[in-house]
Amino acid sequence: MTFDILIRNGNVLDGIADKAYSADIGISGGMIKSVGNLRGARAVQTIPADGLFVAPGFIDPQNHSDSYLTLLEIPSMDSLVTQGITTIIVGHCGTSLAPLASPEALKSIQKWHSLVGANINWQTYAEYAKILSHYPLGANVMGLVGHATVRRGLLGDQVRTATVEEIAMIEKMLLDSFDAGAIGVSFGLVYAHEVNSSKQELVSVAKMTAARDKILSVHLRSEGSAVVPALQEVIEIAQESGASLKISHFKIRGQKNYHYLEEALSVIDRAYQRGVNVFFDVYPYTTSWTVLYTYLPKWAYEGGRKAILQNINDRTSRQKILAHLSSQESNLGSIFIATSETNPGLTGKTLAQIAANQEVSVEEALLNTLEATATHAIVFDRNLSEEIMTTLLKHPLSIIGTDGAGYDFSYSSFHGLVHPRCFGTMPRFLSLVRDKKIMSWEEAVKKMTSRTADKMGIKNRGRIAAGMAADVVVFDPHSIGSRATYENPYQQADGLSYVIVNGRVSFAYRESVVGVPTGLILRT
Ligand SMILES: [Zn+2]
Repeated sequence: MTFDILIRNGNVLDGIADKAYSADIGISGGMIKSVGNLRGARAVQTIPADGLFVAPGFIDPQNHSDSYLTLLEIPSMDSLVTQGITTIIVGHCGTSLAPLASPEALKSIQKWHSLVGANINWQTYAEYAKILSHYPLGANVMGLVGHATVRRGLLGDQVRTATVEEIAMIEKMLLDSFDAGAIGVSFGLVYAHEVNSSKQELVSVAKMTAARDKILSVHLRSEGSAVVPALQEVIEIAQESGASLKISHFKIRGQKNYHYLEEALSVIDRAYQRGVNVFFDVYPYTTSWTVLYTYLPKWAYEGGRKAILQNINDRTSRQKILAHLSSQESNLGSIFIATSETNPGLTGKTLAQIAANQEVSVEEALLNTLEATATHAIVFDRNLSEEIMTTLLKHPLSIIGTDGAGYDFSYSSFHGLVHPRCFGTMPRFLSLVRDKKIMSWEEAVKKMTSRTADKMGIKNRGRIAAGMAADVVVFDPHSIGSRATYENPYQQADGLSYVIVNGRVSFAYRESVVGVPTGLILRT
């Protein structure tokens, strides 16, 4: 038989076995047809993989390409495909691009990206999936439904508890979305339009998610001083509802909170032992990428964007906010502005520099920045610990996610800085595996492929075996690594030789081109 693609003599990390093995892989019609000794087989394209690792395409369980709108602007997702990612899951942290009960719903993504120029002409998840399927997608896409998006579509700009009737409407919209292929629901409990959801509402949504065998992906209410109660809250929701819980971009922010790690992990471990289906994704970086207003005390932002500006301008509230900010041990001065679409001149500046320019304190500079950007500032903050990051990467319940979005290599010229994880998460993780020996290659690949697929309910991807969809990555273990930096994130990763999506070469390093986009909209 003649294969479409034959990968010869690679060292196969199949996402299943505990030891890599040497084999050939035959691909035809978008599927892996055969794995083993295929000497004598013919193929339209042969990829020699001597000395290289061959792994299932990486699955990114925590991707923001939708809420940053790059999914629509740059559907080729070059920054993701060139790091070996072949499937992304979007719709996280409470927000998604569907369903949209009213135009108000889309405002849930405004904290990340301006909506100016966005061409969004759908309402239901089914319509969204259909329209997106006509986009030239570089990787496969699966979607969650954002709880804040649905809520905001119904409640508008009001920040309050939903009524029983409204909860019923929220659930109806979620069920319709599940029927149309959405793989679960996300909560963003820290954000203005969800902080007021009642426990009853959250449990009720989680129960419905569990009943349909879908996933619950949660951005915790706190990743700092209240991380332990924040974990307990979502674990209770998972336990009461029976939902499969993914904690998004798990981390502990701020040096004074690092000591909570042990207690936090013990909350997770004990829940797992009790039978709660809990796991978390983590990225291999010690700098977070955050919406600036979330540094304010909760009362100051729970009324939404207008309320933030009112509080900043009201003398008494401003004093209370400043007192709160200076009581936080976090080093506010080192925070630097990544994007501020309404005020691009601030990009790349630290709060310390802005404070010096304005001859005010860093706390004042933070409030002035929120005002100057109409609260639309996104920042980098070096507030995470390398040691905690490594512990989380190694934890048996962790999987690797970018918490980033797809870009191309020229995006920088007009849009400011993005986190290097958008370009380098997977290669950077693999370089840590090689250089710091934090785990075996086999274990590392499982955390990016088969384990992710199992946790997210993806049946036919994440493994190299006959009958699986042909999403395959070929990489060089000696040179794999990321070159993306905070100052210049727009750089291609090293060491990726080939990325195959649905049986067609999507990226080939040697030819240095990104091939035809062959991503599909997937469902569970
Ligand atoms: Zn989040």
